[in-house]
Amino acid sequence: MTVSVGGLVRRFGPTAALDGVSLEIAEGEFVAVLGPSGSGKSTLLRVLAGLDGSEAGEVRIAGRVMTGVPARERGIGVVFQNYALFRHMTVFENVAFGLRVRPRALRPGRAEVARRVRELLELVQIPELERRYPDQVSGGQRQRVALARALAIEPRLLLLDEPFGALDALVRREVRRWLRGLHDRIGLTTILVTHDQEEAMELADRVAVLERGRVVQFDPPAMLLSAPATPFVAGFVGEVA
Ligand code: ADP
Ligand code: MG
Repeated sequence: MTVSVGGLVRRFGPTAALDGVSLEIAEGEFVAVLGPSGSGKSTLLRVLAGLDGSEAGEVRIAGRVMTGVPARERGIGVVFQNYALFRHMTVFENVAFGLRVRPRALRPGRAEVARRVRELLELVQIPELERRYPDQVSGGQRQRVALARALAIEPRLLLLDEPFGALDALVRREVRRWLRGLHDRIGLTTILVTHDQEEAMELADRVAVLERGRVVQFDPPAMLLSAPATPFVAGFVGEVA
């Protein structure tokens, strides 16, 4: 779905975590929000997801203004850095939980839950792990479980907040490549928040660079490198070159 953010402001006391953020994201696009720690990335995702409010500005998803729409009615799948799987639940139950948090009218019956969970585990390519508990699978596999859980609600939009933070470098590369492949297959509009320029540049169609709550550039990776809008962008995306 298209995402349109206009003039978004979110203050915490004297700090403006978001200081007038505007973004237009196309249907099916993979966007990375890149910025250093404290630049407002998580706040932006929380406001988009409806987990936090804003003092000014507006969010539209598929053209509809989201102000006042509760998080669970926004049709957004969210994966956070510490993706908190339930340790006492199997992989199957963790993904099923994603289906059970849907509004009552949309909540599937038992057989349908089982069918959907298996379909989702196939999609994230870990069908053999459904009976395992989270500590019995690898970090990369846990990440896939978290993603399957987020996809269970059939989101119109997927938000990922530093989803690879807990993975080691090698696994991170693999999961990253896999995520892009998954996106290309299902075509879901995706916003990934990261402080890792390499990750943003490799994965995204366009990268929004955030500096102290403001978007200083929103362009394809190649443009950020060839025509950085500010010295901050040049310094930030150039670090790994
Ligand atoms: P990032 O995810 O880019 O590291 P955040 O969105 O978490 O940045 O934070 C942006 C700014 O807002 C920081 O200065 C942070 O300290 C502040 N902030 C975020 N959440 C809160 C909160 N709940 N209470 C007070 N300040 C907050
Ligand atoms: Mg953050």
